[in-house]
Amino acid sequence: MALYVQKFGGTSVGSVERIKAVAEKVKRFRDEGHQIVVVVSAMSGETNRLIGLASEINDDPTPREMDMLVSTGEQVTISLLAMALQKIGVAATSYTGAQVGIRTDSAHTKARIQHIDTDDLRADLDGGKVVVVAGFQGVDDDGNITTLGRGGSDTTGVALAAALKADECQIYTDVDGVYTTDPRVCSKARRLETVTVEEMLEMASLGSKILQIRAVEFAGKYNVPLRVLSSFEDGPGTLIVAEEEDNMEEPLISGIAFNVNEAKLTLLNTPDIPGVASKILGPIADSNIEIDMIVQNVSPDGNTTDFSFTVAKSDFKTTQRILTETVIPSVGGGELRADDNIAKVSLVGVGMRSHAGVASKMFRVLAEEGINIRMVSTSEIKISVLIDEKFMELAVRSLHTAFGLDAESVSDETA
Ligand code: ASP
Ligand code: MG
Repeated sequence: MALYVQKFGGTSVGSVERIKAVAEKVKRFRDEGHQIVVVVSAMSGETNRLIGLASEINDDPTPREMDMLVSTGEQVTISLLAMALQKIGVAATSYTGAQVGIRTDSAHTKARIQHIDTDDLRADLDGGKVVVVAGFQGVDDDGNITTLGRGGSDTTGVALAAALKADECQIYTDVDGVYTTDPRVCSKARRLETVTVEEMLEMASLGSKILQIRAVEFAGKYNVPLRVLSSFEDGPGTLIVAEEEDNMEEPLISGIAFNVNEAKLTLLNTPDIPGVASKILGPIADSNIEIDMIVQNVSPDGNTTDFSFTVAKSDFKTTQRILTETVIPSVGGGELRADDNIAKVSLVGVGMRSHAGVASKMFRVLAEEGINIRMVSTSEIKISVLIDEKFMELAVRSLHTAFGLDAESVSDETA
């Protein structure tokens, strides 16, 4: 007999039929004798609908009232799911975040969980009940309802699993696991049996949106076994694990992430003297624009440099303006080159730590396809290259094959 926290996202509870299907799934686990805590999101689209209502009334509502509003979405789902469970003979009780003792700080709309009281929960579970908890919400010390940020139900699930020392936190969603890369881009993408927390964080921050990043961090910190699986079909999903000490079988590369949401800016011929990099990036940072990759090259005469960096496409225009109006006049020199037809492709894998030659192999594969690399950045478990956007799919597919990630059962003919 195990204790599972099972979290169902918005599409999994998107209609009355789906809520009934979730109840059936939960019942199967109960019938096997397991103790179950269910965490649910609002029905799909509901949180956005509520935010829309608010904006029709006030374009700058206080965060406290926003939390009061959006937390209602989950309250609808918990009660309907508890009713669905009761209807099929499963004892169940629903609780809001406040009722179940999820204490947070007072940072409305982005609150952090500080403490969870598990005594009442335990009593219910030991009494044979399924406990249905509203995701995404908590309560601060003054009794105000708070929410944890968009996608926060994942964090509720992991936090409850940590507090209850559950055997597993299962995140049921509309995909059947974490893939080596996006199957829409590469038909040979394959579901991973396991992926480490660190790899998942790299892939998530690079744009795969299966889990809220904070939930993954939380799972890593508190050692919660976390599994992503489909709520619509049966299957093992993907287990997200802490890194094993000496896993000989460890693949070199676990996945390929890509991102077409960045733009590149280059200032040519800026003076190569101390303080220039900070003069370039300072005004950009002051406008709260995040910079991702940075490359600086010294010219042959050693007096000037070409300074390149990337920002989110949504910040492209503003960044260009800051460079032309503020930066170039203050640092001198500098012709500006701007390019938003670029893509970042990244190899991610903890196996990289103990193997040399991943970068050179990556560059060789891209060269063989005639793909020019415009920028490179690396971390311990990731290598990213910036290339022309039109080559993105080709790069992902070639690298997927070259690094042995292709699914064996899928051939070109069937794909
Ligand atoms: N309902 C919230 C949202 O849409 C929380 C969640 O679904 O995890 O962001
Ligand atoms: Mg979600």
